[in-house]
Amino acid sequence: MRELGGMTMEVDVAIVGGGMGGLALAVGLQERGIKAHVFEKSPKERKHFGTGISIGQNGIQALEGIKPGLSQKMESEGQRTRQFTARIRVQGEPEKVFTQLPQLTESEVMFTVAWKGALETLADELDPSVVHYRHSFVDYKLVEEGVESRFEVRIEQDSDACTVETNVVKAKLLVGADGVWSGVRKLVVGDEPRDLCLVTWLSVVRTERIRSLNLNDDDEIRFIVYPATKTGVITCSCGPEYTHWQYRVPDESRELMKSFTSDFNAHGKEARKMRILKQLEGVEELQNLKTAVERSESHLVREDRNFD
Ligand SMILES: Cc1cc2nc3c(=O)[nH]c(=O)nc-3n(C[C@H](O)[C@H](O)[C@H](O)COP(=O)(O)OP(=O)(O)OC[C@H]3O[C@@H](n4cnc5c(N)ncnc54)[C@H](O)[C@@H]3O)c2cc1C
Repeated sequence: MRELGGMTMEVDVAIVGGGMGGLALAVGLQERGIKAHVFEKSPKERKHFGTGISIGQNGIQALEGIKPGLSQKMESEGQRTRQFTARIRVQGEPEKVFTQLPQLTESEVMFTVAWKGALETLADELDPSVVHYRHSFVDYKLVEEGVESRFEVRIEQDSDACTVETNVVKAKLLVGADGVWSGVRKLVVGDEPRDLCLVTWLSVVRTERIRSLNLNDDDEIRFIVYPATKTGVITCSCGPEYTHWQYRVPDESRELMKSFTSDFNAHGKEARKMRILKQLEGVEELQNLKTAVERSESHLVREDRNFD
């Protein structure tokens, strides 16, 4: 790794993080004539994040507030949701269906879209020159009339070598939209996210590969709760191509968490899939999910320790 100098740029608003929050903010500001620049540590090519996002009335209102017509654009990538069902399964008892869940009325709109599609819809609204990929926020200092931030920029040369530059960005306002492990928040507030002692495995899988398993109807978000093990399964369709599955287990002792990393791009992709399959081994009522996991591409299977 070689370290090089770097460049200095001056912008009105610097947003750290090109996730849903950072991109949505940048689009909203752009609509109001304020040029915000987004600095995202990941490369430009977006992978599937193993999940989808369900957007209801509040989300639609927010998207329309950001830019009129944005919610329809996003919905065109996704699937209209018309039913939530929650089922509770106790071994040896018939499945109970919760009827108390609020159901969508005819006039209420909700849709579910793959995370990748939602991010791409937002990014497409921005002038590409304002989104800077491979920029990892390091720190900031207050300067006259603003704030000066430093970003490490990794430039891969080949599989073994890369150079790292440090770019300095001066802005009137710095916004931390860099997720639950926010480096900006750490410097400003100094606290740590709260460990929920939960582990979630999740993925999106091509619907054609799992349709025969009847995990959910196309317009349904289905939760299944297993009180004996305090585990839960969520499945839903997130557009014409993909279905999302999610399996959540408690991990009070943190034994499960010890073995894996929260970095989605890190090594051990196959290992993530092996770990969830091990969890599902021999659990009679989860064999359909197990088949869906087996049919999911390893590089799309994600495992997360859950923090808030
Ligand atoms: C297991 C799991 C499942 C979830 N499922 C759902 C779901 O189904 N639906 C739903 O609505 N929500 C879901 N959530 C919650 C959802 O992920 C968050 O609410 C949402 O991602 C927050 O958006 P954000 O833009 O604030 O942060 P993020 O989506 O985390 O985006 C932060 C961005 O900042 C970048 N970044 C981080 N550090 C730096 C740095 N130093 N420099 C530059 N860039 C940086 C990251 O690469 C990322 O692109 C789930 C969360 C988890 C953990």
